[in-house]
Amino acid sequence: MAAALETHIDALLPQTQCTRCGYAGCLPYAGAIARREAPINRCPPGGRATIEALAALLGVPVLPLDPACGREEPPRVAFIDEARCIGCARCLAPCPVDAIVGAARFVHTVIAERCTGCELCLPPCPVDCIELRAAPFAALDPAANRRRHEAHQARLVREARERAAAIEAQKASLRAGGESP
Ligand code: SF4
Ligand code: SF4
Ligand code: SF4
Repeated sequence: MAAALETHIDALLPQTQCTRCGYAGCLPYAGAIARREAPINRCPPGGRATIEALAALLGVPVLPLDPACGREEPPRVAFIDEARCIGCARCLAPCPVDAIVGAARFVHTVIAERCTGCELCLPPCPVDCIELRAAPFAALDPAANRRRHEAHQARLVREARERAAAIEAQKASLRAGGESP
């Protein structure tokens, strides 16, 4: 029952995964709301419309956005100044929707249409060459953001499995080498 409510609440959240609500992502915040542990006014990307939708779903009063979480703003996307990028790749891992293209020692770039404007790539950049600019779209697409975030998480799980399998194979090979005469 609580899980179903969490799913309904999550469906109303913008899925930027920005963590401004104070939770690790939209789904954890949805869970906290479902358990009545968090108020409905902590999502700046969703703003007033999301608060109203949550209030209607839960039958609770509409609240003003909690200013401690941030301000409601038009969608923005990250932009990398490629002339200053040193190709350190530190911005890749924090991106919850894999919107950054690049590899170590190569210039990185943001696929603007995929970017949720979560800002999580900004702090790790050692040369501050990432900034936010007006988005090329009028509104966030929560369904697409969720799909990309799920794909991102599935990739992390797959890579962790592959790493573990490679380590096991290496250990087995070392054991086999040690057993040979
Ligand atoms: S989009 Fe809203 S609910 Fe999702 S992580 Fe950001 S603040 Fe939290
Ligand atoms: S590129 Fe940066 S701002 Fe855009 S989704 Fe990825 S981490 Fe967030
Ligand atoms: S963190 Fe900054 S310098 Fe490093 S690859 Fe990303 S954009 Fe380039």
